[in-house]
Amino acid sequence: MTHSCSIIDGKKIAQEIRASLKKQISDMAARPVLAVISVGDDEASRIYVRNKEKAAAEIGMECRSLHFSNTVAEKELLEVIEALNKNESVNGIIIQQPLPCHLKTACLVEAVMPCKDVDGFGPVNLGLLQMNSPEAVIAATPKGVLRLIKSTQVELAGKHAVIIGRSNIVGKPMASLLLNQDCTVTVAHSKTIDLPALVRQADIVVAACGCEKLVKGDWVKDGAVLIDVGINRGSDGRLCGDIDFEALAGRDVWITPVPGGVGPMTVAMLLENTWRAYKNQKNIL
Ligand code: NDP
Repeated sequence: MTHSCSIIDGKKIAQEIRASLKKQISDMAARPVLAVISVGDDEASRIYVRNKEKAAAEIGMECRSLHFSNTVAEKELLEVIEALNKNESVNGIIIQQPLPCHLKTACLVEAVMPCKDVDGFGPVNLGLLQMNSPEAVIAATPKGVLRLIKSTQVELAGKHAVIIGRSNIVGKPMASLLLNQDCTVTVAHSKTIDLPALVRQADIVVAACGCEKLVKGDWVKDGAVLIDVGINRGSDGRLCGDIDFEALAGRDVWITPVPGGVGPMTVAMLLENTWRAYKNQKNIL
């Protein structure tokens, strides 16, 4: 179908970032190394890990996959993380989520040393982000979302940003990032009263709630920048976001498609974080 509003092409922007990383990495004697810890047999997680391995390989980065059975003990994982922390050839460590219920995700994430926490999920990096510190490793999805918003060249200072979702990995770091950009930020969640009225005031909407086409066309004001983080399997079996993309056809808005918007940026930002960790660890400016 035709969609004459302005599409923010995450796939293209991510491709440019990956090409730039590939070029920079090709100048290095040693390859950056990302270690990915995964547990169990969650199908979606397996696909995400495979995508990360493929994307890393394409830019000349090594991805070491460490896969454990559903019954692995937390103590064993903590020992693995400790060994990876000490291993100087490993630059970044991520723990693929969700983890089985018997494992304490927060405890494992906290065990990753902050300079190798390339997911930016640990308490030190989340705190540094809150403080607007340049040292913070910023979680890949919110970091990618900010890049997409900036690609529109819309001035951010003073804009009202409404974020739908308050998870530790998307909504909350997103709020800090946009606050650090001088936006006025509202964070909505499942208990928010009158979400449509809030979205109608928004210059920027970041939808990250995992609810198929929750944001309707008539909730959105003209000129808004709409970033759709959600990944849902629609009732027609196709992937769709949290925003009713079709309903915004022909409107004066910026919008990211699903797929092809935030998803590719998340992977590119993870690679960028790993590259940055590598440079920091090797004192490369
Ligand atoms: P979570 O399930 O952890 O959080 C969802 C948030 O949305 C919660 O804060 C919840 O509120 C809120 N919420 C749920 N329903 C509503 C509603 N009807 N109105 C307002 N708020 C609501 O999800 P994640 O943050 O991990 O992910 C969000 C979505 O983004 C998912 O679809 C996920 O698949 C996708 N995702 C996509 C990525 C990408 O790279 N494209 C990366 C990461 C996530 P409450 O806190 O009150 O429960």
